[in-house]
Amino acid sequence: MRKTIVIALGGNAIKQADESGTAEEQFKNVQTTCRQLASMLMYGHRLVITHGNGPQAGNLLLQQEAGKEEVPPQPFDIVGAMTQGQIGYMFQQTLQNFLWEQRTPLPVISVVNQVLVSEDDPDYQDPSKPVGPFYTKEEAEKIKAERPEYVIKEVKPPSVEKRFRRVVASPDPIRNIEYLAIRKMVQTGIVVIASGGGGVPVVMDEKGCFRGTAAVIDKDKAGQRLAAVVGADVFMVLTDVDHAKVNFGTPEERDIGCATYSEMVKYAEEGHFKAGSMGPKVEACLRFIKWGGTLAIITSLDKAIGALIGQTGTRIVPDPVC
Ligand code: ADP
Ligand code: MG
Repeated sequence: MRKTIVIALGGNAIKQADESGTAEEQFKNVQTTCRQLASMLMYGHRLVITHGNGPQAGNLLLQQEAGKEEVPPQPFDIVGAMTQGQIGYMFQQTLQNFLWEQRTPLPVISVVNQVLVSEDDPDYQDPSKPVGPFYTKEEAEKIKAERPEYVIKEVKPPSVEKRFRRVVASPDPIRNIEYLAIRKMVQTGIVVIASGGGGVPVVMDEKGCFRGTAAVIDKDKAGQRLAAVVGADVFMVLTDVDHAKVNFGTPEERDIGCATYSEMVKYAEEGHFKAGSMGPKVEACLRFIKWGGTLAIITSLDKAIGALIGQTGTRIVPDPVC
């Protein structure tokens, strides 16, 4: 049966941990990813794709800093939009090429979209998401003097010289601003790449106008909002592990196969999923099921198709109604 599937791709879909991030490396990884995505399209499913942008935004922020004597550095929200375009372009082109090779030229589009957040979100009180370059104490003090609005924190032990980093808030996504356009495109059969890097975070003023804010939205939570917008049947989080696990990293570690909503809530409450990595993925999946989704999957890219047909991966389903 044809399904609408929202896929949230992790960092390794674009850049491996040991790579510097050259265009060639990134295109090579994107090709591996798109091969899997193209197979899902061949099964007749509708795909909506979202992805992270951490390493790309980090590098672009470094470039802003390095070139600031020559070219005005761009603010955080614009850097987010630039990486949406950058990564979206790589996926769009690669996927189009694969589809063309198979003589199935489905339309593919990547959109730069904004995601609404609230300035009242508690994360603005004590921002925690490190972004951009590392600084020495002196560099951190100089930047703070130039840009008093920056929050800079010590993120490594005192023995490390470059141990300071800018931190920004990671507010909860409320909704996609461009949701109507995205929904219409998906309904007409277009493969849409959206909310990259969690989307460009914006706040709304009292007149209803939007303005970018220096924040990073978790891409899995933004992916769940996207899944709701397009009325997805399946929400799939593809990362670098093939299952979410209980007792992760201990001798009692065990893969979670199929779990009901309540079973997964219990595991989360027991603290099995780390904040900032598996935690938000599980939370996004639980939100999807609570919203009305029928299946949420956490697995690795190479297991995606197997997980879709119930052979592997962590599969979260609604509680039985009886
Ligand atoms: P991505 O870049 O794909 O969003 P993350 O690095 O944020 O991925 O999250 C995936 C990582 O979560 C895994 O590589 C693993 O180290 C970590 N992790 C934390 N808790 C768990 C758990 N309970 N089960 C599996 N992986 C976990
Ligand atoms: Mg990662």
